[in-house]
Amino acid sequence: MNPTPDPTLDLSIIIPAYNEAESLPELIAWITRVLAGHAWTYEIIVVDDGSEDQTGQLLHTLKKQYPPLRAIRFLRNYGKSAALQTGFEAARGAVVITMDADLQDDPEEIPALYRMITEEGYDLVSGWKYKRYDPWSKTLPSKLFNAVTRRLSGIPLHDFNCGLKAYRCEVVKSIEVYGEMHRYIPVIAKWAGFKRIGEKKVKHHPRRYGKTKFGIERFLFGFLDLLSIQFVSRFRKRPMHFFGGLGVLSFTIGALITLWLIGYKLWALAHGLHYREVTAQPLFYLALTSIIIGAQLFLTGFLGEMIVNTAPKRHDYVIAEVIE
Ligand code: UDP
Ligand code: MG
Repeated sequence: MNPTPDPTLDLSIIIPAYNEAESLPELIAWITRVLAGHAWTYEIIVVDDGSEDQTGQLLHTLKKQYPPLRAIRFLRNYGKSAALQTGFEAARGAVVITMDADLQDDPEEIPALYRMITEEGYDLVSGWKYKRYDPWSKTLPSKLFNAVTRRLSGIPLHDFNCGLKAYRCEVVKSIEVYGEMHRYIPVIAKWAGFKRIGEKKVKHHPRRYGKTKFGIERFLFGFLDLLSIQFVSRFRKRPMHFFGGLGVLSFTIGALITLWLIGYKLWALAHGLHYREVTAQPLFYLALTSIIIGAQLFLTGFLGEMIVNTAPKRHDYVIAEVIE
């Protein structure tokens, strides 16, 4: 992931789409209408995340109508994070804006977001669905999710998972989004060193066509992902610092206790006092366990180091078609 040093366009709009054929024509037309009022050069990248509906054919038709459109089509459904990551890699704009395909995010917000990046110096601006049009079964857990993420990450955003976001091109070229991590892009960006993270209240609409692609399980997986992000960002490069540290601690405690037990026995022997066999004391077994766990952790650290140094790229998404 090397940053593209000279973007060839002003703006890239990335739209991950999974079975959104009903919404896409309207969305592309709307974006085009909004951008017609500005002099920016732009591209619209639709990443078709293995849709089973008419999206594929539709993209061919739309391409003829809208030259700035580019489409990348996955062979199967890999998930929103994969779609975003692929869009990020393909983007050629100095500013990158992502938005959902389902017409819930409002294209009218694009110009203001663009300016916050170019004129106000933000690395990343996240939308905040201030007045949200989703069922309570979604908005309520989402409040909790945002509070926890805010706490753990120290980033004061209200709406981490908003699909509408704007980035300076360097940001998207230097982060990697996989699994279900699209919910934590601001956290990933912060860990990568991009500190100027802003927020903009954005208009939100109810879903008109199709249905949501995410169920309630998103919150459990989402939380596990947050834990791995915290872990990975701290120790990805040096697993040994985590496992080795704990291993040394555990090993040392065990070794000290063992030495104490042996030393005490020798001392008691020398002074003709009563003593218990080392192996007759529970403490000895605790010490032994501690030594073994310590050695195991240490080995885990070594293995982690080896994996980190040989791991291939995680995202090998099969691209079925590129429409340019
Ligand atoms: N999406 C995707 N791949 C998936 C699931 C969703 O590309 O596996 C896209 C989807 O088409 C939409 C965006 O991600 O453009 C957000 O999805 P959705 O509207 O279902 O999420 P919600 O608004 O309910 O949080
Ligand atoms: Mg939606």
